[in-house]
Amino acid sequence: TALLEVQSLSKQFLGSEGKALTDVNFSVSEGEFVSIIGPSGAGKSTLLRCINRMIDASSGEITFDDRNVTKLKKKELKMVRTKIGMIFQHYNLVDRLSVIENTLHGNLGKKSAIAGVLGLYSQEEKEQALRILSVLGLESLIYKRADQLSGGQKQRVGIARALIQNPRMLLCDEPIASLDPNSAKVIMDHLRDISTSMGITVLVNLHQVDVALKYSDKIIGINSGQVVFNGSPAAITKED
Ligand code: ADP
Ligand code: ADP
Repeated sequence: TALLEVQSLSKQFLGSEGKALTDVNFSVSEGEFVSIIGPSGAGKSTLLRCINRMIDASSGEITFDDRNVTKLKKKELKMVRTKIGMIFQHYNLVDRLSVIENTLHGNLGKKSAIAGVLGLYSQEEKEQALRILSVLGLESLIYKRADQLSGGQKQRVGIARALIQNPRMLLCDEPIASLDPNSAKVIMDHLRDISTSMGITVLVNLHQVDVALKYSDKIIGINSGQVVFNGSPAAITKED
């Protein structure tokens, strides 16, 4: 069954002429690994921002876990957001906090304003953070400040911070666009493993077709705000 369903979604930004998204339709199954590909400016980032309601769609519907995301009240929205982990191109870590502090910071519902003091978290929360960090190969770096990490390490912390809230789905906005090929492979391997081993649904914006072909169950192509392809990697290879 579909975990996420996007129906007739359109978005026009206030004051701009054309639409950033026009009549976008697709669905994502539970546990599926889906890549959204398309050139810069195609609307990929706008799409992800509509799904977690960082911005409001102009029209259409988004259903996540049987809830209509476009119509949620503030409190329900908060609950849905804890089930959707976000991964960003520029990591969005807090520079002066350590790896483990940044990870615990993902537990937003709890202590967002006063994160940064390890003592405020329970032993259980810290153990959970350590388990996640060790899966991501960061166990030797837990006390290192975020601003002293390489890009690839920063992105692994970004993934840890998303995982600690126990999400059903990860939305990844160009997670490897700032990384060298080796770091990019490490990140994509982790995301694929999170989907396959943990059953977490992954939706990832990419502009590299080769990467999408290698890792995805399904690829959605977007151009000028419209879906131009929706199918398996095998189908896209045949078309070209
Ligand atoms: P992509 O992620 O594929 O590079 P975006 O979703 O960032 O594409 O952008 C899609 C279109 O929407 C572009 O034309 C961009 O200029 C426009 N856009 C994005 N954000 C805004 C905004 N806040 N205000 C106005 N236009 C925007
Ligand atoms: P990756 O190899 O994972 O792509 P980079 O090594 O290219 O990441 O680092 C990305 C950015 O972070 C670069 O601007 C780089 O100068 C900076 N950077 C990398 N390592 C450190 C570090 N130990 N301390 C401070 N900045 C760093």
